[in-house]
Amino acid sequence: IHANIIPFLKYIFQLQEFYAEEKCINMSFFSDNLSYELDFDPEKTAAVVGNLLNNAIKYTSEGGNVQMKVMARSDSLYLEVCDDGIGIPSEKMERIFDRFYQVDDKNTRKAGGAGIGLALTRELVNLMNGTISVKSIAGEETVFTVQLPVRHEFKKAEFNLHKQTLESETNDT
Ligand code: ATP
Ligand code: MG
Repeated sequence: IHANIIPFLKYIFQLQEFYAEEKCINMSFFSDNLSYELDFDPEKTAAVVGNLLNNAIKYTSEGGNVQMKVMARSDSLYLEVCDDGIGIPSEKMERIFDRFYQVDDKNTRKAGGAGIGLALTRELVNLMNGTISVKSIAGEETVFTVQLPVRHEFKKAEFNLHKQTLESETNDT
């Protein structure tokens, strides 16, 4: 579809806030623009973002922070999901995208799951001709970055992320 991807991403983000609330995790959504009109695959994009946010919430303990950042550079859209949770040990990093792989740690086991989320996520990103990368410090933070090619060229020199107000926050008050 051709649409503004920002409200779409916010909606996917808000669906995950429900799980975050149970764990008292702070969720924030940042974007360097209010509107990015572009062609994207809604099903694949929703699954990718949903999986990454689900992991970020799952592997972050109570009171932690999960952030989603959206930014555009030249001919790519970047979606970043950051958390300050348990992190991924560097020696396990290259295996996390493998099917059925879970970091062998008691926290991971406790969290459940099948270990297919990231394998599926990478497959979907590949189908969209994008790339996915991860940076993590064990015990501190994890950042997944998804790069998606877009046909339109974004000419943005300034890099300014603005916190977006989510509908649910405004409704709460
Ligand atoms: P599933 O997604 O099938 O429910 P899962 O979350 O365990 O299960 P993946 O999403 O594929 O499986 O993730 C693989 C492993 O990578 C996880 O088990 C976990 O050890 C590690 N991992 C993924 N995301 C994070 C994160 N944000 N922080 C820390 N570890 C992570
Ligand atoms: Mg998962």
